[in-house]
Amino acid sequence: MIRLVDVCKSFGDKEVLHHINLTIEDGETLAIIGGSGSGKSTLLRLLIGLIRPTSGEIWIGDTEISRLSEAELDKVRLHMGMVFQYSALFDSMTVGDNVAFGLREHTDMPEKEVQRIVEEKLNLVGLENVAHRMPNELSGGMKKRVSLARAIAFEPEIVFYDEPSSGLDPIMTEKIDELISHTQQALNVTSVVVTHDMASACRIADRIAMVYEGELIAVDTVENFKNIRDERVQAFFHTLR
Ligand code: ADP
Ligand code: MG
Repeated sequence: MIRLVDVCKSFGDKEVLHHINLTIEDGETLAIIGGSGSGKSTLLRLLIGLIRPTSGEIWIGDTEISRLSEAELDKVRLHMGMVFQYSALFDSMTVGDNVAFGLREHTDMPEKEVQRIVEEKLNLVGLENVAHRMPNELSGGMKKRVSLARAIAFEPEIVFYDEPSSGLDPIMTEKIDELISHTQQALNVTSVVVTHDMASACRIADRIAMVYEGELIAVDTVENFKNIRDERVQAFFHTLR
C-alpha cells in the first residue's frame, strides 16, 4: 500500500535520508525505530507529504504523492490520521471541538452526526464525558488519547504516529501502546509508528524498520529482528534490559 523507491532527502547540502527502499503492507503495523536525529520524523513527514523527497518516489496505493500539488495532497491527507509527538491540540477549543475540527472543516455533515462521531471516537480511546473539557484540564496521557481520537475521526486508511508516548511514564506508555493496537484492530487501518523505544516497537508492531544515520539498515518481523546480527540493531535490544 505504501512504497518508497530510492528516496533521498537533503536539507540544504546535508543529506539526512539515503536511498530508502521500503514497502508497507495494507493493514500492518510498522514501527520505525532509531536513535534521536537518525531521520525518523523526516521519513514520516515525507510519507504524509509535508515535505518532498530530493529524489526517489513515494507511492500510496496507485498515487505517487511526491508529485502531487498541495491541493491534491490535502485530499490524500483526508485518508490519513496523524498523531504528532506533542499532542498539538488547539488549546482554545474544547476536547469535542478538537475531535470535530476536521469533520466540520472538510464535510457538510449534519452537526448531530458530527457529535455522534466525536462521542464514538472518544469512547474508542477510552475517554468518556470529556468532550466539554478544555485540553489543559487533561493529563498528558489523556491529551494523547484525544489526539488519537481526532486522528481517527475521519476513518483514515493509514494512521501515522510520531513518538506517541514521548513524555509519558512507562505505565502510560503501555496504555498508549495497547490503544494503538486496539485502534489498528477496531478500524483495520495501516499503522506507521515512529519510536525510539524498542519495548514499544516489540509490543505493537508486525514489523520493525530501523533507521541509522539516515540509512534503513534492517526491516523484519519482530520475531526475526531479535536475531539480526548487526551490532547497531543489537544495541537497541540491550536498551530492553
Ligand atoms: P529523528 O526524528 O530520528 O530524531 P529527524 O528526522 O528529526 O530525526 O532529523 C534527522 C536529521 O535531519 C537531523 O540531523 C536534523 O537536524 C535534520 N533535520 C530535520 N529537519 C530539518 C530541517 N527542516 N532543516 C534542516 N535539517 C533538518
Ligand atoms: Mg523525531
